[in-house]
Order: sequence, then structure tokens, then C-alpha cells
Amino acid sequence: MSAHPANPSLTTATARQRRRLPPLVVIGAGLAGWATVREFRKRDPLTPVIVVTADRGDLYAKPGLSNALAQQRTPQQLVSTSAAS
Ligand SMILES: Cc1cc2nc3c(=O)[nH]c(=O)nc-3n(C[C@H](O)[C@H](O)[C@H](O)COP(=O)(O)OP(=O)(O)OC[C@H]3O[C@@H](n4cnc5c(N)ncnc54)[C@H](O)[C@@H]3O)c2cc1C
Repeated sequence: MSAHPANPSLTTATARQRRRLPPLVVIGAGLAGWATVREFRKRDPLTPVIVVTADRGDLYAKPGLSNALAQQRTPQQLVSTSAAS
């Protein structure tokens, strides 16, 4: 099995495909879900990632909810990273 060029502790895509690893499934697109996906992607750019979530999947800072109503901000204006990115 050959080493991943960016991280020798990982295997290459070919080796992974050979082993047919299943996708990473993350439940929830809150801070924990997004952090998990981002950190996983840094280490493994190839394995498919599936996020199952009850919301739109966009990343936003929850503290922004506190004054969003007073500032008449729309939900879309709170999004820092869209789920489509
Ligand atoms: C108004 C407000 C202000 C805050 N301010 C701060 C602060 O200043 N500092 C701080 O440290 N923390 C703050 N917090 C707390 C912080 O936002 C949370 O600790 C953090 O968001 C938790 O992240 P999480 O990913 O665990 O959960 P969440 O962000 O709640 O994400 C849960 C995810 O799971 C999904 N989900 C839920 N049920 C299901 C289901 N059955 N199937 C599929 N998906 C599901 C949801 O859609 C969501 O995407 C604040 C929270 C609020 C509400």
C-alpha cells in the first residue's frame, strides 16, 4: 500500500479504492458537523462525505441569532459558508 503524498499516514486514492472504503456519514450540519467535515477533508480529500441534516446545511454563527431579529437580518444574511460550497 502506498502513502498519501500530503500525509504519509494515509493511503493513496488507489489503495483506498482498492479497499472500497465506505463514505464518511456526518449527522448534523452545526458547528460540530462542519468542523468534522473540514478536519476530515484536510486529511483525506478523496473519501466521499455525506452530511445528513435537518436544516439547510449552511454554516452560521449561533451568537448572531441573538441580535438578528433586532437588526432585521434574513437567515441568508447570517450564512458564513453555504452548504453548496
Ligand atoms: C443564540 C445562541 C448563541 C450562542 N452563543 C454562543 C457563544 O457565544 N459561544 C459559544 O461557545 N457557544 C454559543 N452558543 C452555543 C453553540 O452555538 C453551540 O454549542 C453549538 O452550535 C453546538 O454545535 P453542534 O454542532 O453540536 O450543534 P448544532 O449547532 O445545534 O447543530 C445540530 C445539527 O444537527 C441537525 N439535526 C438535529 N436533529 C437532527 C436529526 N434528527 N436528523 C438530522 N440532523 C439533525 C441540525 O439541523 C443541525 O444542523 C450559542 C447558541 C445559541 C442558540
